[in-house]
Amino acid sequence: MMLLRAPMESLLGLCCKPSSSSPAAALSVFFLARRLRRFSSIPHRLRFIPPARRNRFFRRDFIASLLSTSRLQAEAPVRGGDTRLPPLRIYNTMTRAKEEFKPKVEGKVGMYVCGVTAYDYSHIGHARVYVTFDVLLRYLKNLEYEVCYVRNFTDVDDKIISRANELGEDAISLSRRYCEEFHVDMTHLQCLSPSYEPCVSDHMPQIIDMIKEILDKGCAYQIDGDVYFSVDSFSDYGRLSGRKLEDNRAGERVAVDSRKKNPADFALWKSAKKGEPFWESPWGPGRPGWHIECSAMSAAYLGHSFDIHGGGMDLVFPHHENEIAQSCAACKESHVSYWVHNGFVTVDSEKMSKSLGNFFTIRQVIDLYHPLALRLFLMGTHYRSPINYSDLLLESASDRLYYIYQTLQDCENIINQNTSEIHGDDVPPDTLISISNFEKVFLESMSDDLLTPVVLAAISDPLKSINDLVNTRKGKKQQKRMESLFALERSISNILNVLGLLPSSYDEALRQLREKALKRANLSEEHVLQMIKERTEARVSKDYGRSDAIRKELAEAGITLMDSPDGTTWRPSIPLVMEVPPAG
Ligand SMILES: [Zn+2]
Repeated sequence: MMLLRAPMESLLGLCCKPSSSSPAAALSVFFLARRLRRFSSIPHRLRFIPPARRNRFFRRDFIASLLSTSRLQAEAPVRGGDTRLPPLRIYNTMTRAKEEFKPKVEGKVGMYVCGVTAYDYSHIGHARVYVTFDVLLRYLKNLEYEVCYVRNFTDVDDKIISRANELGEDAISLSRRYCEEFHVDMTHLQCLSPSYEPCVSDHMPQIIDMIKEILDKGCAYQIDGDVYFSVDSFSDYGRLSGRKLEDNRAGERVAVDSRKKNPADFALWKSAKKGEPFWESPWGPGRPGWHIECSAMSAAYLGHSFDIHGGGMDLVFPHHENEIAQSCAACKESHVSYWVHNGFVTVDSEKMSKSLGNFFTIRQVIDLYHPLALRLFLMGTHYRSPINYSDLLLESASDRLYYIYQTLQDCENIINQNTSEIHGDDVPPDTLISISNFEKVFLESMSDDLLTPVVLAAISDPLKSINDLVNTRKGKKQQKRMESLFALERSISNILNVLGLLPSSYDEALRQLREKALKRANLSEEHVLQMIKERTEARVSKDYGRSDAIRKELAEAGITLMDSPDGTTWRPSIPLVMEVPPAG
């Protein structure tokens, strides 16, 4: 990434010399800069404030007026003349309340998110977790925080060992393979890479040291080479999940063991069994229990005290509850300021599970749907609410994404064709107000515990403004039309970028969306074009019955025909058959 960044910036430095003085040249630089930036996947922050950094990409005198008017003045009403951003508030599972976010160190955020146990392809429940925390990461970066984001891989676990034994493969190498597959999924979903991705197998010394600390403090005990944490030693046990100790049963991953002092006691170290990978320790050969890895690795990369610890809601108990107990036993000063958890995914309103046959991997979904349609679908529900996966909802997200990208592609095309008409210092007041309102909704909603559904709905207004300017007779005649289009497109694409929904190119994303729609319909583009040709011939010969039948047949398969003076084209749409409500 750094290799790409250097030539891009030096190239832009050359392009941005004062001699490139026309608006057209500035616009070319703008689009070149954006494409290069997208290509190199360098996360660029939303350019609300401060303008200094972003100005290097543009000719300053041309863009400065847009920045000063559309951004800074637009934010003024939000705080009644105060230009500060609305304070970020996050729901904290520990206090069961939305709290104002205050980092432990000014300007910096430490965030640890529990990663996957890598023994298979990741499913859409995982997609939800990592998209949720990617949105939080991107928004924190947008607020100019320097974020240290740590997401682990569990590469030592019962499930990995049993899968490896089934396949006759080494457990660590099987796990590494699925870590790579996970990276592929994350790249498709446009989730930014964490700062660190520690694996359990690389952190045995830290894990063993922490277990020693816990034993030294008298909060754990040994039995036959196993080490158990004693939940009775931690008076706050159950505070995160709201469970009382006497209500506890052995957790999902805690084997029932009559040797334990309390059934809720959990393993910190498990003695080696035949055929299992093991590491030497003061308690004999073995491997760590599941929970201790996150306590040890978060402390290794973020210290004992940090800002955000996240994961799916299913991790609140026992995993995070146990993490707190271990961390506090090892170090009294251990503290996480905000515990953040996302809601479950259900499929057709039923719990997603392999046994019900309604279990979807990310790979299966993005084989048929654009990965950013999956991301848009996930962000269409607030991260703490349950989300129901269905083909219809994925079709709907795909349809919406196509509309967003098509509108922005049309806008970009017109701007590219008319760069000489643009005078960037003269954006009409009604456009500035529209942008100001949109950005205000964005900032207020995202700062209110990441209300992404509100932001996604709010994109409709500036998109409509673009479509009016591009397509309607009144819009085409509007004064300063190009300046409006330029400012609207820039505002929307900036926000799409913070949401992780900006594609490397609209054109390419539209092509991919069409390709996926054809695959779902089990049709080739040649076939669709042949049908369009037949329909045109039918219309010429006034065979409207045949013409309508072709249109309907394609619409049922999710292909909508669009007639214009230049001919008939097609776009993906929600298949007509799926839109019919069930009888009764
Ligand atoms: Zn964890």
